[in-house]
Amino acid sequence: MPDLMQAAVVEAFGKPLVLREQSVPVPGPGQILVRTEACGVCHTDLHAARGDWPVKPVPPFIPGHEGIGIVVALGAGVTIVKEGDRVGVPWMYSACGHCEYCLSAWETVCPEIQFSGYTRNGGFAEYILADPNYVAHIPDGLSAVQAAPIICAGITTYKGLKETGARPGEWVAVSGVGGLGHLAVQYAKAMGLRVCAVDVDDDKLAHAKALGAELLINARERDPITALKDGTGGGAHGVLITAPSLTAFNQGVAMTRRHGTCVLVGLPPGDFPLPLFDVVAACITVRGSFVGTRKDMAEALAFAADGKVKADIELQPLSAINDVFDRLEHGKVPSRVVLDFGSQS
Ligand code: NAD
Ligand code: ZN
Ligand code: ZN
Repeated sequence: MPDLMQAAVVEAFGKPLVLREQSVPVPGPGQILVRTEACGVCHTDLHAARGDWPVKPVPPFIPGHEGIGIVVALGAGVTIVKEGDRVGVPWMYSACGHCEYCLSAWETVCPEIQFSGYTRNGGFAEYILADPNYVAHIPDGLSAVQAAPIICAGITTYKGLKETGARPGEWVAVSGVGGLGHLAVQYAKAMGLRVCAVDVDDDKLAHAKALGAELLINARERDPITALKDGTGGGAHGVLITAPSLTAFNQGVAMTRRHGTCVLVGLPPGDFPLPLFDVVAACITVRGSFVGTRKDMAEALAFAADGKVKADIELQPLSAINDVFDRLEHGKVPSRVVLDFGSQS
């Protein structure tokens, strides 16, 4: 094991990440050390590095919560993973395991939850510490670079779609078909749903069409609410808003069919007004959804291992992270960038 590793570190909010060498962490009791093979870059990492949200990480910290790698060292007492296993270190780094939420398979809202790349150092580094109770187990046959986007973008959209309650044959609208959304389209198709894709970028919409979306709406060119209601005969049974834009949230609730469910997943900073009369009189459910449980993780990965869902990835080295952030901020990343730590070697 080397003493030093390369890492991309947020030293101050809103400033470029600093590429530097730091000590390879040593796993304490109950922890494991993972040698990173790949780590996806999520828009959440950008929010983290900018300090966008009310609950902020404390710099210096290493972002990244789509890290996949090989277990290379075990802390005292670890028995449930072994050296050589391929695991993912997801956004839900750990939870307490015994509160009412953990006991009812709602560990994602555990008050003691820790977040990779936010309250714990994450995957923009050659090694990651992890809690073996909460790592994702990567199925055989799924490469590290392909698995990376599944452990955040995939699980989040898969769970979010389940939370819409939409049934096979019904319509879902996916607002924002970028990193999360291009996987949402595929999960929705695999779940037997009809898909309307809404975005502000024609290339992203063309990609969504190739992935099976039937109805495509550029919200910059026409009113997405009217277009969606016309195209689906009254609105989508389920709406999944992944777009990091408050405009999309206002539109998303209005795109929901009577008695339908609008699931909020994107996390742009700020608030948006809820049209009270419309929500009440049309019996619309508006609910938040936050990644997914370990069970959701296994299911989301199984879709990918079965070839029903495939992330469209662009590989980049860790050293390109600031350029990747810049492109992500300006909507110039086609789907998902995955930082490749030499996974092919
Ligand atoms: P991304 O940048 O890859 O994709 C965003 C997409 O939204 C792009 O295709 C962009 O063109 C589109 N978009 C922008 N403005 C729009 C608008 N007004 N209407 C429709 N589409 C619009 O980002 P991502 O990695 O997919 O993440 C999206 C959001 O989801 C971020 O805010 C991120 O923090 C959040 N997120 C939430 C969870 C969760 O558990 N709830 C998990 C992961 C990410
Ligand atoms: Zn994420
Ligand atoms: Zn708990």
